[in-house]
Amino acid sequence: MEPLRHSTAHLLAAAVTELWPNAKPTLGPAIADGFYYDFDFGNAKISEEDFPKIEERMHTIIKTWKGFEKNVLTKEEALKEFADNPYKKELIEEHSKDSDGLTVYQSGGFRDLCRGGHSTDPKEIKYFKLLSVAGAYWRGDEKQKMLTRIYGTVFPTQKELDEYLTLQEEAKKRDHRKLGRELDLFTFSELVGAGLPLYTPKGALLRRLVNDYVESVQAAQGYTQVWTPQIAKAELFKTSGHYDKYKDSMFKVTSNYSEEEYFLKPMNCPQHTQIYASKARSYRDLPIRLTDFAMLYRDEKPGELSGLARVRAFSQDDCHVFCREDQVDLEVDMALAMTKEIMKTFGLSYKYRLSTHDPEHPEKYIGDPKVWEKTEEWAEKIMKRNKIEYIDGPGEAAFYAPKMDLIAKDSLGREWQLSTIQIDFFLPERFDLEYVDSDGAKKRPVMIHRAIVGSPERFLMVLIEHFAGNFPTWLAPVQVKMLPITERKKS
Ligand SMILES: [Zn+2]
Ligand SMILES: [Zn+2]
Repeated sequence: MEPLRHSTAHLLAAAVTELWPNAKPTLGPAIADGFYYDFDFGNAKISEEDFPKIEERMHTIIKTWKGFEKNVLTKEEALKEFADNPYKKELIEEHSKDSDGLTVYQSGGFRDLCRGGHSTDPKEIKYFKLLSVAGAYWRGDEKQKMLTRIYGTVFPTQKELDEYLTLQEEAKKRDHRKLGRELDLFTFSELVGAGLPLYTPKGALLRRLVNDYVESVQAAQGYTQVWTPQIAKAELFKTSGHYDKYKDSMFKVTSNYSEEEYFLKPMNCPQHTQIYASKARSYRDLPIRLTDFAMLYRDEKPGELSGLARVRAFSQDDCHVFCREDQVDLEVDMALAMTKEIMKTFGLSYKYRLSTHDPEHPEKYIGDPKVWEKTEEWAEKIMKRNKIEYIDGPGEAAFYAPKMDLIAKDSLGREWQLSTIQIDFFLPERFDLEYVDSDGAKKRPVMIHRAIVGSPERFLMVLIEHFAGNFPTWLAPVQVKMLPITERKKS
């Protein structure tokens, strides 16, 4: 699919530059559902109304294409060819150091700077559709120029294209931002701030029902609820490693009375280590299972905020189990069983992903590579023992542990990563957590992080769209409505 999608992006650029000769094509990759191409249209404004004209031109141009012919250029040749396109020039400067040289692909009369990966037969490029237009900063950088992004999709057959478009229509009808407004569940206020959802009485009830349900399943497994403050000293996050890895997405808080740095908490884990460390623990006290629904805050980029999908304030059903090594298997089995039960309640199908670390980028992780190996093997064994099929997620691990992630599928077949279970040896070490074992020796507990619905707020979005707003009765904020029926007045 990727070569087909990427090739269609070339075709889009060919049509756009014929129709708007001053438009400058920049980058146009294949993406999950299709492709996009970013253009600098100068002073020209384009909208979805221009799509039929562009699509028609694409259909005309494709008839003249025989293939994608590769040309290797020197930096000078490439700079000369793209002399009037500062974006391509920037890319040429960057890629001129690449070992495989600069390549320009030609199809019909259209040439584009590109690394390759095209359809072998342009006749395949037939069943495409332009979808939307949006603003996008050059290289995703807010300080750079705002470009015009045109999204489109393409499929090998008309049937697949139609199916996709029908699904998109249905998704649009179910959009949680639209339904959230219509069902009066949540709102945003410019005065409060972007990415900070306000739950109305009905939305707050729905949120509470989801939390209470998750809480009841957890309580049955021996979890106890704790509550931790919204802010903490930088020292806490420096010790956990969050400061080094996530400082840029944490909100800084200042005090009038001290020079100390504080942050709004992005995660519950570091605080929970301090509850564990608050007293001496014996092997008999373990496992200790803590749950916390306190709010978390992350300084997401304004351009990436979207409804409840990406917010700056949210909570997580992120629990932490402190246990002995010999208890890990049972604890993870229990957590896996819990994910199964909860997904079943909401009627979501799912698959698992084993997210491991990327040995080529050690700077992204903390801890000893040997421990990583051991933990990843352990997680694999647990999945196999539970007869869970899973896909591999290389490079998708958290910075402190591999993850057993659950990816749910909603009623429209869209995938959402929800649950995660992580076996962590590093945070207990960094916080110097201990317990006294049966032989009197001091040992380190293992910390298991696990979330089932992930963020209840984001889960609400999934539920709103999954049920198209028609919640099962136990979740519906309005369960019954009385309709007064009056006797027709006699005239
Ligand atoms: Zn290409
Ligand atoms: Zn955690």
